[in-house]
Amino acid sequence: MKRIVLTGFRGTGKTEIGRVLSSRLNAAFIDTDELIETRTGRSIPDIFHYEGEERFRSIEREVMASLPPKDVIISTGGGVVCDPKNMEHLRRGSSVVLLVADIDTIEKRLLKKPRPPLTGLPLHEEIAEMMDRRRQNYYAASDFCIDTTETSPEVAAEKIIALTHNGVSSQVQRNTALAFFKTGRLPPVALINLTEILTGPDRDPTTRIMGVAGYPCAHSRSPGLFNALFDYYQLNYHYTWFEDPELDEIMDVARAIDVKGLSVTIPFKRDVIKYLDEIDEHAAREIGAVNTVVFACGTAIGYNTDWLGVRKPLVSMKGAKAVLLGAGGVAAGAAYALTDLDMDVTILNRTPENAKKLAERFGCKWGSWDEIDRIKPELVVNATPLGMQPDTRSPLREDQLNENMTVFDLVYTPPVTPLIEAARAKGCRTISGIEMFIEQAREQFYLFFGIDVPAEKMRELTV
Ligand code: NAP
Repeated sequence: MKRIVLTGFRGTGKTEIGRVLSSRLNAAFIDTDELIETRTGRSIPDIFHYEGEERFRSIEREVMASLPPKDVIISTGGGVVCDPKNMEHLRRGSSVVLLVADIDTIEKRLLKKPRPPLTGLPLHEEIAEMMDRRRQNYYAASDFCIDTTETSPEVAAEKIIALTHNGVSSQVQRNTALAFFKTGRLPPVALINLTEILTGPDRDPTTRIMGVAGYPCAHSRSPGLFNALFDYYQLNYHYTWFEDPELDEIMDVARAIDVKGLSVTIPFKRDVIKYLDEIDEHAAREIGAVNTVVFACGTAIGYNTDWLGVRKPLVSMKGAKAVLLGAGGVAAGAAYALTDLDMDVTILNRTPENAKKLAERFGCKWGSWDEIDRIKPELVVNATPLGMQPDTRSPLREDQLNENMTVFDLVYTPPVTPLIEAARAKGCRTISGIEMFIEQAREQFYLFFGIDVPAEKMRELTV
């Protein structure tokens, strides 16, 4: 039997439900908090009190790495989900079920079996604070979600058995989804795979679908990368192309088959916001564009990871004088990243009016293309499509480049663009758009699954 892992805040019923599941499925049951106490010979309050939370988390990590890979029901401690290494171990070959309950119910349950506080706050506030702090991690950890507020452990266990055996969508919903995918431009092999996963006689009903939403998006490399990551981490997911001119259609299908998440690309990064319950306060709201949607427990939350993909390769250039070419969707994330690194940024664009609008949002300077000669930047970031296959133009002339410049071309098809080629010839330091692609996808994977993929692994799996 595939192992079932129960996660959730204290008081959501993990141990009670785990025991019922264990007897209903005739499988072993492990409560990881009990296992920690058995292995150390100390109670968890004692470990916290005498050795501190750091030590407890380190023991917890060792225990997560040592759990049996199958035929077991595992109930985890409430904070386990916050450590990406734990998620890597727990998610491998498992169905992870997130248990949730409302704060009043959790408080009542916790009052019956007091545990040491995690903060100095009164219990009700502590629960609200900790649940809010960990929410993104809980959502990333969940394949399925069950609300235990008004449910007995027996009923919750039945629901979990149904979900982990039959999946989440009906035959009608899957047929409708397949009809939708047939209208996109999926490669023939991808469509054959998807047909098998959605409607095939030997299908695994618990395989979850996710993908990239855009129009066009058939060129996207995300399906290749994400499917390779699913194989590597043994996640029962399949990533595909949601290509349609109507975002309404895409969102209907995504909800009908209960997708775990979507990567969002042109032209929907702004439009998708109205379909979401929440957007990430730091980036998505300020940038005004969402490239990542995480669905969990009936909510859809939007994030922007593009800006992190621009920021990461440039951290060593804090405070540099930068020129950003372009003023579209990706340029907005880039402007956010560059100003976050305290750079002196000038935005240059084909339509200067658009450069002005973007510059005013982020406190940058702006101008028209040829002003680059006057500015003499240390860094140039290309956020236009110039140089993207089949276009062979470079956004800058050779005489506008010099060896003291760093050139970051966000275009990544081809990996070596005409701009990168020219910059290399001039002796500039160059950064390929692949670096942005890898970093933004790495952040997305963390938001979707709670796993922190090493950059080298991302590079190896980016085909
Ligand atoms: P967008 O919203 O359509 O914006 C395009 C920008 O480029 C606009 O400022 C536009 O100027 C300018 N532009 C378009 N055609 C031009 C031309 N022929 N000459 C000069 N300027 C031109 O596109 P986007 O979503 O920001 O994407 C931009 C590029 O980023 C994509 O083409 C893609 O290659 C790259 N990208 C890379 C990654 C990655 O992971 N590396 C991810 C996403 C996108 P106007 O204001 O005058 O229209």
